[in-house]
Amino acid sequence: MLNLSVLLSSTARTRPARTALRCGDQALTYAELDRQARQVAESVRARGIRPGDRVALVSPNLLAFPVVYYGLLMAGAVVIPLNPLLKERELAFIFGDSGTTAVFAWEGSEQLPVLGNVRRAAAATPSVREVFALGELPGLLAPFPGTAEAEPTAAEDPAVIIYTSGTTGTPKGAVLSHLSLLLNARMKELLIPKHEHDVVLVALPLYHIFGQTSVLNGNVHSGATLVLLPRFDPDTALDLLVGHRVTLFSGVPSMFQAFLQTDPEGTRLRKAAETIRLITSGGAPLPVAVFERFERVCGLRIRQGYGLSETSPTVTFCPWDEPIRPASVGKPVWGVDIRVVDRDDRPVPAGTVGEIVIRGHCLMLGYHNRPEATAEAIRDGWFHTGDLGRFDEDGWLYVVDRAKDLILRGGYNVYPAEVEQVLLSHPAVAMTAVVGEPHERLGQEVVAHVVPRAGARIDPDELSAYARERLAEYKYPRRIVVRDELPMTSTGKVLKRALG
Ligand code: ATP
Repeated sequence: MLNLSVLLSSTARTRPARTALRCGDQALTYAELDRQARQVAESVRARGIRPGDRVALVSPNLLAFPVVYYGLLMAGAVVIPLNPLLKERELAFIFGDSGTTAVFAWEGSEQLPVLGNVRRAAAATPSVREVFALGELPGLLAPFPGTAEAEPTAAEDPAVIIYTSGTTGTPKGAVLSHLSLLLNARMKELLIPKHEHDVVLVALPLYHIFGQTSVLNGNVHSGATLVLLPRFDPDTALDLLVGHRVTLFSGVPSMFQAFLQTDPEGTRLRKAAETIRLITSGGAPLPVAVFERFERVCGLRIRQGYGLSETSPTVTFCPWDEPIRPASVGKPVWGVDIRVVDRDDRPVPAGTVGEIVIRGHCLMLGYHNRPEATAEAIRDGWFHTGDLGRFDEDGWLYVVDRAKDLILRGGYNVYPAEVEQVLLSHPAVAMTAVVGEPHERLGQEVVAHVVPRAGARIDPDELSAYARERLAEYKYPRRIVVRDELPMTSTGKVLKRALG
């Protein structure tokens, strides 16, 4: 028997009075969080939800998220955490695809009628029997004592289904087991020295695998206090980092870029740096220029990790006891094998770029109801990431780019990330995304979308010339589009599909 919710129940036993969660002026201790989660388990059992049933949770980072998440796991249900920004059509697709039986949903607002969207999507999906509003949670829990035992699920049973965010196509549900999520949550204690009084700012959305495993599960396991930020904005995040004396922060690169835009002199960042002991980035490439600007402004050196929804997620991390290599995502973590292979799946030597493939306890059980997609992704036990990368001689991994983003210009490969690195080293550029545009003669042309730094102006010709001096003739962007912002996913990744 192994149930992921053991992360919470063990901490509730050892540190019951420690504050587990804060959100605005609300807070829960570990004992309270554990009791409420057990009440959720009792309540859903009483309503006929059985082990193995799929139950969706549509919520931003609110106290109710961890309460319902751990409660559903205790009941043996398979949790499908979903982004509250999804529209009715997208929700209905996922409910139908996964065979969801019940949904817990945040009410939302007039501009964002989350519960309304969920109810309409549920009405169109025969498998959905009930929709619970998170505002009704106190009433749902009240009749139950909160003493239930967790369902004796097996290690290999599904615990969570993560629908990929669809930056590259139709969402697929990666089914993750109790064991793979538990081992990933316990990774923190192997990767960084223990600290009794960690305070963590949870700015990454909990419905995304990175926030859910590395931030929520990892820190609940170690008994930290988690400060939840329902929606990321750099101003509020900076206030919370300073106000709560935060010690750990994990973000995606666009968050670090947003901090630098909001606090260019680093006044608040330096104050935050007085208590922060670890700052990590993952989810997308961290440009070296951002790493360097961040260090210059506040002295903090960002450590990268790399992972995917399909790998629960962390597969590499920058080792604590070695000097950081800013362009690298680190080394494979405990129990995970990583190879870089050619088109015939043969390993290539260090220094050569190929596809990154992964094997180990972290792999998903498969894509829900998609045996063909699963067989295509996991071949001979190796998960094929679709990311291009290389190892250096010392075993550090570098993610070069997504294979799907690769630009083929006149027969030459152009890695957008390399062009983006160069553009970001220009003092006027805050953010950039390089994409390929169809071109009659060359197949594709290199186009850069750029956002100026606060108060700066970008001259497209000058920037193109700047890139030309630093990049081979076939790589530099011929067209530069200056924009106020870039289209982003709600997890902070640039939505390149909307630019190509
Ligand atoms: P899709 O929905 O198209 O499959 P996604 O962005 O939703 O994509 P996730 O599982 O959220 O999928 O993210 C995994 C991807 O994020 C990786 O395949 C990789 O391209 C990128 N990634 C994660 N960490 C890093 C990193 N440190 N450096 C570069 N890229 C990274």
